[in-house]
Amino acid sequence: MTDKKGVSVAIIGAGAAGIMAAIKLRDASISKVSVFEKEDDLGGTWRDNTYPGLICDIPSHLYRFSFAPNPNWSHTFSPGSEIYDYVRAVAEGNNVEKLITYNSQVTKLEYNNTKWRLETTKGDQGEFDIVISAVGILHHRVYPDIEGLASFEGDCFHSARWDHDVSLQSKRIGIIGTGSTAIQIVGAVIDDVEKLSLFQRTPQWVLGVPNTEVSEEDKAKYRDYPEEMQSLYEWLAEALNNGFAAAVVGQNEEALATIQNSCQQNLDENIRDPELKMKLTPNYSAGCKRLIVSDLFYPAISKPNAELVTDSISKIEHKGIRTVDGRLHELDVLVLATGFDPHRFLADAEIIGRSGRTLNEAWSKGNYAYKTICVPDFPNLFFLGGPNSPIGNFSYLLTAETQFAYIEKLISLIRDGKLSEINPKTDITDVFNKALKGAMSNTIWASGCQSWYFDRFGNVASWPWTFDKFEEELSEPKLADFHAA
Ligand code: NAP
Repeated sequence: MTDKKGVSVAIIGAGAAGIMAAIKLRDASISKVSVFEKEDDLGGTWRDNTYPGLICDIPSHLYRFSFAPNPNWSHTFSPGSEIYDYVRAVAEGNNVEKLITYNSQVTKLEYNNTKWRLETTKGDQGEFDIVISAVGILHHRVYPDIEGLASFEGDCFHSARWDHDVSLQSKRIGIIGTGSTAIQIVGAVIDDVEKLSLFQRTPQWVLGVPNTEVSEEDKAKYRDYPEEMQSLYEWLAEALNNGFAAAVVGQNEEALATIQNSCQQNLDENIRDPELKMKLTPNYSAGCKRLIVSDLFYPAISKPNAELVTDSISKIEHKGIRTVDGRLHELDVLVLATGFDPHRFLADAEIIGRSGRTLNEAWSKGNYAYKTICVPDFPNLFFLGGPNSPIGNFSYLLTAETQFAYIEKLISLIRDGKLSEINPKTDITDVFNKALKGAMSNTIWASGCQSWYFDRFGNVASWPWTFDKFEEELSEPKLADFHAA
């Protein structure tokens, strides 16, 4: 396989998906691969998040690239730092770090005559035949719009910008939020702090899965017998993809009932105080918000130095948080575990397509794409983790690899000189998105709750079908769905 045309590809983002794409493009003999990364390091979410207790709640043996199985994962759910080390080792082992330009945020992309001109904060980077966005989903931090936030005199930071210079030892710490992040932090810091106040707006269902250490014996087995590790991968994939993930899209009622019962049982068995239990009981179905996985949270929030604050926050003052009941919760450290805006993608860049319209204009009434991959009138621009990608329930690495395999088939048409422009048809894209919206009503997300899955128009950002359907849809590009020139 040779690159007859001398194709150039720009990848935006050096997180896990961007690294994977760079490796695979180089292996596909693409002549020029350049990765532009806005920060000074690779790793994406695993670089940004370093808070205490950070783990990935997708089992580690499922959270890996197919071409880089890892027999050395330390836990069922390995710590964030270990995943960061894994992504770095994969990049270094495959010699792609040299392709990355750091501190270079893409500010403008303009399409003209089958080429994208690309500008970053470092200036004009020239023209590329193809651009792949691998910017990730959970990285535009959300700061709460609460009166007086700036007046707080203690230490205050977002969970994705953890300040490791601030000691929590014997401090009064406040945490706003009860998402996956906050729940992990609570479990990790409770024994260090004098007092922990968790400000809860909405309670969460929590699945109490223990995070067991992988024995040295098992690691040796996975090293010596890779087929054993592959069997574990397949077992986990089946359990997650056909169990949990099928349940939340309305395809496995039994699994959904099991999840609900397991969460209820976890609550019943671990929270004895009836008032605390009432406060921690959600009024929506398990799985509607992103399910929390933790066996540490309930024991931690039950400790004498923990307080679950359910009165709404009225404002933040220089000494702490004042709730609507008039009480001032005095704090030394305030952690904003208030999540991310997953709908922004490349919103900070000006992206001008073939009709002169920008991507922000095209997406002004909500993000959409053809099969999560590409957008009409933005030819040769492909997304990993694009609109309505399966997020939340699957390994993102598997999602991104599945998307890349499809994109690679399209790129190979350009590499082999068969086409120079690949642009999805508008009517076909509309049909896809109409079906997608129709399918949303069968999902648990439509059952009544609020979460980051929803955009400001009330659209759900996730994939409403099974993972099998995702793989099927992306198995082979249908060229009739594209204007191909
Ligand atoms: P999140 O799930 O969006 O949670 C944000 C929390 O902040 C919610 O409890 C929200 O309350 C609360 N909040 C936001 N604004 C507020 C305000 N103005 N006043 C009071 N409360 C406010 O964010 P996250 O916990 O960072 O998690 C985001 C996603 O990242 C997860 O769902 C998961 O997909 C991923 N993640 C994964 C792992 C992992 O183990 N793999 C770990 C961490 C995160 P409401 O619920 O009322 O909106």
